[in-house]
Amino acid sequence: MQPKAQLLGLPSYQPGKPIEEVKKELGLTKIVKLASNENPFGASPKASKAIKKAAGETSVYPDGYARQLRESVAKQLQVDEKQLIFGNGSDEVIQFLCRTFLEKGTNTVTAHPTFSQYKLNATIEGAEIREVPLKDGVHDLDAMLDAIDENTKIVWVCNPNNPTGTYVSEDSFFRFLDQVPPHVIVVSDEAYYEYVTAADYPKTVPLLERYKQLVVLRTFSKAYGLAALRVGFGVASKELISYLEPVRPPFNNVTFGQIAAASAIEDQAFIAECVEKNNEGMKQFEEFCQKHQLRYFPSQANFLLIEVGLDGDEVFQALLREGFIVRSGNPLGYPNSIRITIGKKEDNAALFEALERVL
Ligand code: PMP
Repeated sequence: MQPKAQLLGLPSYQPGKPIEEVKKELGLTKIVKLASNENPFGASPKASKAIKKAAGETSVYPDGYARQLRESVAKQLQVDEKQLIFGNGSDEVIQFLCRTFLEKGTNTVTAHPTFSQYKLNATIEGAEIREVPLKDGVHDLDAMLDAIDENTKIVWVCNPNNPTGTYVSEDSFFRFLDQVPPHVIVVSDEAYYEYVTAADYPKTVPLLERYKQLVVLRTFSKAYGLAALRVGFGVASKELISYLEPVRPPFNNVTFGQIAAASAIEDQAFIAECVEKNNEGMKQFEEFCQKHQLRYFPSQANFLLIEVGLDGDEVFQALLREGFIVRSGNPLGYPNSIRITIGKKEDNAALFEALERVL
């Protein structure tokens, strides 16, 4: 018997080396990681305080329905508590969606390049993946509509898109939703939602009752600064959530994650501060790119995909020797580019100096 991953030709996830190990190897005293779109300013102090308070609570299982967190998120988003499903990161909600709706003989439509987990999970379920190339860096919603047929179960709109940071506007998204046949689930993955400043970005949550096939994904891993605690969630109609709940493992969100996320969502002042600093950092990056005539996709997120004109892997290695971890564009579908998370002001400035030496 051949294991499923082997049959499907799936490689194992290759984790990056721990920072301490890289420091030792390269003889560096400081390394700045700008690779995974985490919040460089950490999390709300309220979240850290809440975790400390719960430090002794390790011998009992977590709340299997994340009640306190559910209440906080429902209040913040103004939805019914039954419209929410929590995952061990939004990665796990993507898994729930694929497990629930995909199997051999079905297909799913994604943009390309986009976030890798849609394809990975769809492949595991044996579904066909229809990848529709981005048009000028943005989802080509008309071509995605054309790719849908009677066997299509899920269409993924990563908004803003990872790795480009580009976004689909409210007009075009709702026009798209009106045309998607009712048997197809539309996922709006809004992992970078908090960072978006564009006025015409779609306000999806208030329309969930109207669009019963829509699922919105959000996460505590990015602007909320809680990536280590793995909390993400899906919002949809109660009926759609009731289809997903049976595939969720009973204790998928640890107590610390639930407690921290519930406190973090109540501290919107912290998020506003981080967004402001991200906007300033983004301006710093754009000015740097313009000065050096480097092309980039205009980004609504906390990262920028920059065309550097050299092999992404080589630039990644050269920047690593300078003490910066970024993402090579090669595995992301952009070979002569690098994707960089917007960091703290002083780290951004130091990175620019390193880039000037490398390019
Ligand atoms: N969606 C997108 C677009 C992402 O970029 C990421 C993280 N890289 C995720 C989902 C998953 O995030 P998490 O599992 O940490 O919630």
